[in-house]
Amino acid sequence: MAEILIAPSDQVFVLTGAGISAESGLPTFRAEDGLWAGHRVEDVCTPDAWRRNPAEVWAFYSTRRAAGAKAQPNPAHLALADLEAQLGDRFFLCTQNVDDLHERAGSVRLVHMHGELARSRCERECGRLPVEDRALYKSLDEVGRCACGGRLRPHIVFFGEIPLEMERIQDEIARATLMLVVGTSGSVYPAASFVHWARQHGARAVYIGPEPPLNASAFTQVVEGKAGAVMPGLFEVAS
Ligand code: NAD
Repeated sequence: MAEILIAPSDQVFVLTGAGISAESGLPTFRAEDGLWAGHRVEDVCTPDAWRRNPAEVWAFYSTRRAAGAKAQPNPAHLALADLEAQLGDRFFLCTQNVDDLHERAGSVRLVHMHGELARSRCERECGRLPVEDRALYKSLDEVGRCACGGRLRPHIVFFGEIPLEMERIQDEIARATLMLVVGTSGSVYPAASFVHWARQHGARAVYIGPEPPLNASAFTQVVEGKAGAVMPGLFEVAS
């Protein structure tokens, strides 16, 4: 039976994290050994790591590109695409994930606040837009250069960098009456604050995942379970 009723007046904001892609075979970040896919975050996902060892950063993201390309959207990605098809512009999706499983499931109104695996951009922030790039680089010599001469880097928000599309995200949260948060531990900011921003203006907020997130007390409802198992049939859209 559907547990979440969406009224004709509802404006829905969805935030997803690594957990929604777990059932597609992509690992989440918080392994028990504190490593991320066998690497220390500071070796592969910081501006300093890029300056010190761009080859290691590219080797890491090439491996992630290969895994992302093999993965397929799961029923949770499809349930969100189906919800968007019913709600149109009353739906907005913000993902922390850099994979493209939401797009491949059919989602359209979405932003990737932490960047996208399948794009690269100039390391010099020269103003040129990110370009589509699915290459798996075996050495730094293979990595292209921007027209300005800068080396291409992954279009990924490294730790310490400012997330993308924040103005649009804030506008969408300001008009949301229902926030759905799926598969994120509630430990990385600013995304972990979104539920508080939504609650401040009276929106209801539902978390979906196998365990309560760190910011669980901010939610009006927690649906416990794996996203791919519980999301199909979870929503009822009233007309
Ligand atoms: P996370 O790994 O911190 O949390 C994953 C969450 O998914 C957990 O709460 C877990 O309970 C849940 N989950 C697991 N399986 C699930 C399933 N089948 N269905 C639903 N939920 C499931 O990931 P996050 O919260 O997305 O991390 C936030 C951001 O942190 C990422 O987007 C990334 O940019 C950044 N990051 C963090 C680290 C780190 O180790 N600190 C490393 C790299 C990136």
